Amino acid sequence: MSSASYNNIKIDLAALRYNYDQIGKLVGDRVRIMAIVKSDAYGHGLLPVAEVLSDAGASTFGVAETEEGVCLRQAGCEGEIVVLLGAPAESFAEVIQYCLTPVVYDLANLAALSISAEKKGARVGVHLKVDVGMGRLGIMPSELKLFVDEIGRLPGVYLAGILSHFPLADSNQSSPTLEQGRRFAGLAASIGTASDGEMVCHIANSAALIRYPETYFDMVRPGITLYGCYPGAESVLRGKLSLRPVMSFHSRVLQVKEVPADFGISYGHTYVTGRLTSLAVLPVGYDDGYLRSVTGKAEVLINGHRARVLGRVCMNACLADVTDIPGVQPGAEVVVMGRQGDDEINADEIAGWMNTISYEVLCLLGGSNKRLYIYD
Ligand SMILES: *Cc1c(COP(=O)(O)O)cnc(C)c1O
Repeated sequence: MSSASYNNIKIDLAALRYNYDQIGKLVGDRVRIMAIVKSDAYGHGLLPVAEVLSDAGASTFGVAETEEGVCLRQAGCEGEIVVLLGAPAESFAEVIQYCLTPVVYDLANLAALSISAEKKGARVGVHLKVDVGMGRLGIMPSELKLFVDEIGRLPGVYLAGILSHFPLADSNQSSPTLEQGRRFAGLAASIGTASDGEMVCHIANSAALIRYPETYFDMVRPGITLYGCYPGAESVLRGKLSLRPVMSFHSRVLQVKEVPADFGISYGHTYVTGRLTSLAVLPVGYDDGYLRSVTGKAEVLINGHRARVLGRVCMNACLADVTDIPGVQPGAEVVVMGRQGDDEINADEIAGWMNTISYEVLCLLGGSNKRLYIYD
């Protein structure tokens, strides 16, 4: 263990590789995979994740902003890098220099990109984003022809792809997703003749790639499944795709002490002991991404047992009840997320305590702590 911090996020790169391979087997050889590595690879670390996925055969990466694409390129990433939020004019020089593929949805932005590309003698491939029902980024289907014609007319840019995104692929209601998939298929078919044939169509996120093979088109865009979490009700999805969690959060006990019954614990004394209690002080708090909202709900693993977190979570500390766990000593390993002994606390369980989703838990914990990379 490093002396730098009590808390470590372990990133299991072999699990990442496993998940990528499983997704590849599920979608088959003919469907490309755009590995979604935005937001520092969901808190797992952009570069180490991209390196493992490249080794595994990934040749397309999805980032949110230009800056992340530049970072990937500078580290030697050779695949196609799609910038999902598109590129602002200030970043066109980098888009061209680093051969990034921006998503487009704005005519003025396209025209400006065309001028920049022409000046540099470059041809920039763009992916056109259409909104088939997400209600977020993208042009409306009625604007498709206008955009396709414009991209065809403008020098320096070409239509390399068309994409959309599903709002409900993780819900139990399949009809909206299937309907949106059909709408997307229709739109893609309508421009098929306008592109020069190298255009890729893609819409499926993790939930869709598990549930709806009819939405694969040329490429799927897994994010959360790469990192080993299931989008939506796990029991339904586990049977279709086997995944291993990539991130785990390890800490250690700072102090163990006995406090009497009727003893107030932590700020506000929101918890008062009902019995003689053995208390483990842990160096884990909301600054480490262990949000204050887990107060009253959270548990951690110590010596292979679940220990309840008592009282309010503080900035850098929280308290665990180890009364019923024999032999807990200062320095004992604490698993905040991950497996210890026969038990496991996964990102979904923590997300439940925080009233959020696993995605946010991974970003929070991964972004707030030192990461250690392991491959075994
Ligand atoms: C984040 C994102 C994804 C990945 O979604 P998951 O649910 O994590 O698989 C796919 N496509 C777009 C456009 C995204 O923004």
